[in-house]
Amino acid sequence: MNISMEISTLKGVGPKLAEKLNKCGIFTIYDLLLYFPRDYEYIKSNCEFEEIDENNKHILSCRVIGFDRDVKTKSGKIISTIKFAYKNHIVLAKWFNQKYIKNQFKMNETYDLVGKFKKTGNNLEVINPIVGCKDAIESEIIPKYSLKGDMSEKIIPKLINQVLDKTIISDNLPKKILVKYNLMDLDSAIREIHFPKGKGELFRAIERLKFQELFTYSMKLLLLKSKIKQKNGISFNWHKELADLKEALPYNLTNAQTRVVREILIDQKSPYPMNRLLQGDVGSGKTIIALIAMFNVVKNGYQATLMVPTEILANQHYEEAVKLLNPFNIDVELLTGSSSKKEKIRIKERLQRGDNIIVIGTHALIQEDVEFKNLGLTITDEQHRFGVEQRNKLINKGKRPDVLVMSATPIPRTLALCMYSDLDVSIIDELPPGRKVIKTKFYNEEDRILAYSFAKEEISKGRQVYIVCPLIEEDEKLTLNSVEKLYEELKSDIFKDIAVQILHGKMKAKEKDEIINSFKLNETKVLISTTVIEVGVNVPNASLMIIENSERFGLAQLHQLRGRVGRGSYDSYCILIGKAKNDRTKKRMKIMTESTDGFYISEQDLKIRGAGEMFGLRQSGELGLLLADIYEDMDILKCARLEANNLIKSVEKEDVNLCNNISKTIERYSRYICFN
Ligand code: ADP
Ligand code: MG
Repeated sequence: MNISMEISTLKGVGPKLAEKLNKCGIFTIYDLLLYFPRDYEYIKSNCEFEEIDENNKHILSCRVIGFDRDVKTKSGKIISTIKFAYKNHIVLAKWFNQKYIKNQFKMNETYDLVGKFKKTGNNLEVINPIVGCKDAIESEIIPKYSLKGDMSEKIIPKLINQVLDKTIISDNLPKKILVKYNLMDLDSAIREIHFPKGKGELFRAIERLKFQELFTYSMKLLLLKSKIKQKNGISFNWHKELADLKEALPYNLTNAQTRVVREILIDQKSPYPMNRLLQGDVGSGKTIIALIAMFNVVKNGYQATLMVPTEILANQHYEEAVKLLNPFNIDVELLTGSSSKKEKIRIKERLQRGDNIIVIGTHALIQEDVEFKNLGLTITDEQHRFGVEQRNKLINKGKRPDVLVMSATPIPRTLALCMYSDLDVSIIDELPPGRKVIKTKFYNEEDRILAYSFAKEEISKGRQVYIVCPLIEEDEKLTLNSVEKLYEELKSDIFKDIAVQILHGKMKAKEKDEIINSFKLNETKVLISTTVIEVGVNVPNASLMIIENSERFGLAQLHQLRGRVGRGSYDSYCILIGKAKNDRTKKRMKIMTESTDGFYISEQDLKIRGAGEMFGLRQSGELGLLLADIYEDMDILKCARLEANNLIKSVEKEDVNLCNNISKTIERYSRYICFN
């Protein structure tokens, strides 16, 4: 069996099931093996009567001793009851509305029933028990998989079993490392994580796989470093017009901005490629720094590029760049997914030809057919939205260009060292003068109307309002406020006479632009939106942000969102609406209402959620971190990094054809399971 084969080649996987599996992101056998349980349920089996805990599930091997007649309840439900014997006790198992359940059982046979058993005197009662499979009984630990739609719990383990029956997974870590850290071999670890035999073994399996992920991750970072930290970068002079540009700015730079600009200019002048992370809270003024850095590069006769995660942001930066830089005879181009074909070709030709221009864009910039003749500087804005690989792609477009990455999600230093071990760090720790503190409040869902009345007040004062709803999955539609649903609700009532528009990611770029524009022009008073406005959008007249279902967002994200207001001279507010049912949510919301310090907030977020969730690393799959968390598993990461370093060093020692072999080595370790 080849693990790159499609899932439909497995026995029992027809088109329908294949489609469901695809929805879970399972396309190949490789994907299936790496579809790890999201959690485990620990179940005691066949314990003594006294040990049975009514609040926990158990597995009991019960023998059928009788079938009762079905009973119909008043409400029309049919109850089927089967009588079992367990040790010296009688077990009454009841099923609701499962008329044919009895056909599954034979008199005097023994079955493994899984469920919560209630004690009634000396006997037991269980409602809708599941008939367990043998594997589960032995392990007492039941893996829980994330399932989409109406998939049965058993399907995934069954398919995995089918694969593992015929395959032995070969190890891909050097033996030396396995021995040194007493790591489980890969084959056992994969088996154990899907079919755990016991807590201890499961723990070791998870540890081994985390090591694997973090080792791979370290290798990738090292590759990046080995590419960047070579000599022969470009040395850019400080162009004489920099002073004129400074004069032309509509405001004075803050001290922090001035310091960072200086750090960047020093990097630009040095013969080594710049490789710098710029961190600064929302609204601290990072864009202008990017523009100054690009200005100097273009004035030195090179190309510069700025990549951002959304088209809205690309447009906005583009406009700002044109306004500021055109008077200095600098050409700025915009390249996004929705640029016309003709436009794309024209810009690509300019880049290939070597025109020294600035190009601002989205992922469209890292498409294969975009070639730069003399790229001098690449900047990525909102870095946390891009993975290492995307960063790599952009850098590879040039010959050792300078690299600047900017992020508004401040990363605690310890973590930054691991995530971006190859970067120097600049920090803007000061907001431009005159910024208002954004007063933040949390309202329970029942009090939503208060938030909306307040919105009306703000609008009557001439201000504008953002309302943000979380992105929702299809099967959740009922319980959450989606953009459309909320629009209907508000428009038919409280906002009847107010200009409201909606905005979400699925709209065409042109449509989005028009909506944003009309909001910028103050024609639209209320913008109901998904998180597409999270980064960058700048409308100083907006003074209130309402966030629905706020418990669904990460703190760093909430902070980023609320940074959309308070950009003008008006008092500004953020109202978080949500359900604060549990302590965790209460704690999270309290942090938001009490602090406006992005660094503090993101550190707290990290503690509560872990890095994987916080930076969306897990969802994106970009880093291949399925189990490991860069923050929580820092200890493992340190070891993995050490070993990755050593391995690369040994390759370096042995080989002349260095880069190629390092790439190959990394390729080899960058998959959980090797393809033969
Ligand atoms: P972010 O760091 O979140 O990307 P921006 O670059 O979008 O922040 O800047 C936010 C706003 O602050 C913009 O309207 C920008 O023009 C303004 N701004 C930036 N620097 C200064 C400054 N030194 N003084 C006054 N306003 C500034
Ligand atoms: Mg920004």
